[in-house]
Amino acid sequence: MVKVPRMLKDKVALITGSTSGIGLGVANALAAQGCRIVLNGLGDAGKIEQVRAGLAARHGVDVRYDGADLMDPDAIAGLVVGAVEAFGGIDILVNNAGIQHTAPVEDFPAPTWDAIIALMLSAPFHLIRQIVPGMKARNWGRIINISSVHGLVASIDKAAYVSAKHGLMGLTKVVALETARTGVTCNAINPGFVRTELIERQIQDRAAVLGVSEEEALNALLGEKQPSRQFVTVEQLGQVAVFLCSDAASQITGIPVPVDGGWTAQ
Ligand code: NAD
Repeated sequence: MVKVPRMLKDKVALITGSTSGIGLGVANALAAQGCRIVLNGLGDAGKIEQVRAGLAARHGVDVRYDGADLMDPDAIAGLVVGAVEAFGGIDILVNNAGIQHTAPVEDFPAPTWDAIIALMLSAPFHLIRQIVPGMKARNWGRIINISSVHGLVASIDKAAYVSAKHGLMGLTKVVALETARTGVTCNAINPGFVRTELIERQIQDRAAVLGVSEEEALNALLGEKQPSRQFVTVEQLGQVAVFLCSDAASQITGIPVPVDGGWTAQ
């Protein structure tokens, strides 16, 4: 059997919020290309250990888990130091961890606003500012910010989420310009609806409000926004991340990559 060389062999990838959903899909795709992986996220310790060990065994790569709460800047610093001590540096940073809360702006709880901005805008800033010097020193790096269609357009009842995701697009562009003369790129991926835990609650809420089945609520959700009427998959997003890490993408920097079934074409 011919052995195909793995494109990202021995690169170190830190993916935040990678214990489930999109982050795990990206971690899986990067591990398949030979990356050593730092997983991060919250959840049941036993389940996370299963995820960690499964990823390592499936792809034959080192996988480390750090449960840093990214709303805490000290924990973020610890996450970076721990990853660098264990693996020698971080070559690929995927800012993915996120949460959602929906309410009209006048009812939006201020502490929830602060939490969403801390996790989805300030944490990427803290991680980039601590990781980019090592990338510049090695003259290679990939920063991928998992934004959203909501980094490009708005929807009602999502003031904090849409603001954080638009803010992340600004950060993406600034970092891309500041690293443009180096081997570092910084881009965003902007998914439409992906069927993960984050969306599952929205489907259940909508079903309850409309008094319809979850299947009907799901079809209504897709029909309203996503012209393809299909969910984006975490595997597709993983492959887009792999592409952004490839040599072919070395001149792609500072852009959004919508993966949204036509949502933002409307
Ligand atoms: P998810 O709930 O499956 O994953 C979220 C991850 O973030 C989990 O691993 C969770 O443990 C982690 N997390 C939450 N709070 C954290 C904290 N304080 N510290 C560290 N980790 C924390 O949801 P998902 O859909 O996979 O979302 C991942 C990203 O994709 C988010 O940024 C989300 O906004 C974005 N996104 C999702 C969709 C979608 O339709 N699901 C669409 C566009 C963008």
